Amino acid sequence: MANVRLQNLTKQFDGVTAVDGVDLDVADREFMILLGPSGCGKSTLLRMIAGLEDPTEGEVFIGDTKVNDILPKERDVAMVFQSYALYPHKTVRANIEFPLKVRKVPKAERAAAATAAAESLGLGDYMERKPGALSGGQRQRVALARAIVRDPAVFCMDEPLSNLDAKLRAETRAELIALHQRLKSTFIYVTHDQVEAMTMGSRIAVMLRGKIEQVGTPQEVYDRPASVFIAQFVGTPPMNILPAGSIEPGDHLVGVRPEHVHIVADGQLSMTVTLVEQLGHELLVTGMVGDRRVIVRQAAHSAVPAIGAEVRIAADAADRHRFDPVTERRIDE
Ligand code: ATP
Repeated sequence: MANVRLQNLTKQFDGVTAVDGVDLDVADREFMILLGPSGCGKSTLLRMIAGLEDPTEGEVFIGDTKVNDILPKERDVAMVFQSYALYPHKTVRANIEFPLKVRKVPKAERAAAATAAAESLGLGDYMERKPGALSGGQRQRVALARAIVRDPAVFCMDEPLSNLDAKLRAETRAELIALHQRLKSTFIYVTHDQVEAMTMGSRIAVMLRGKIEQVGTPQEVYDRPASVFIAQFVGTPPMNILPAGSIEPGDHLVGVRPEHVHIVADGQLSMTVTLVEQLGHELLVTGMVGDRRVIVRQAAHSAVPAIGAEVRIAADAADRHRFDPVTERRIDE
């Protein structure tokens, strides 16, 4: 079993608390995403799981074994980095075989494992090239193949797609999902990209300032964000936050997703239109309600309001999210 359990995991660097008392259970074969803005501590958390960083406090378990004192190479964890970290003077084949060579796996066995991993990622024709003669996407595949040959129980991936262009990112995302299904290993994947998190994760742990703010399936996090921060970090365009007391009585903040705001003649609120964006498949209308910016997502070909027009907007009570005005945490009905 390769479930991963973190207990009160904490890391301080010279007075900076990068990770602050994190508890997290990652199930065997789960695809867990650590999502959060730059500096929230997600890479540090991942590095502690892989053994590249020692915790200041707390424990890491892989299966039933506490691994705090176990060296990275003995943890049955493979790490894939954004920067690929390939050896520039070695061929693709030698790069992929390297972890097996370190473990003194016999040559023929090494070669067979490298060939199988490379072919599963479409690298079969590039085995004798050096990394310098590969595209970014191909290099990232070499880094993945090098992780796969280790046959680890847990894959730790730190923003592996960040250096790829948008099209290649989308393709590689799909490949990673297929890879996870094929390998039946546990994946822990760091990203600041909510689209990656939503599309790949079986669950998402959203981090802010060293702490986990919410853990749930992508749909749970989208449908019931635990705070204003998560409501605006997950989903594009972000959730609208309306002024307290505007759409319903009370001093709480009200959040409404852009697809749940409707422009209707008898809407509860008045909005001044400031921007209209035609995206082909949909239409985004932005406006101001008091001092708050509000975005309305409409079907393509719906009526286009003029810039500067006053329109009325509405949102069903069932589609409203309520947050404490001070803590900005979700208020449960
Ligand atoms: P990014 O997406 O930008 O990589 P992150 O969420 O992965 O961000 P971390 O790299 O884990 O964040 O960093 C968390 C905090 O710890 C940051 O404030 C960072 O400056 C600090 N930090 C990370 N590594 C070190 C280090 N080796 N020494 C001192 N401070 C560090």
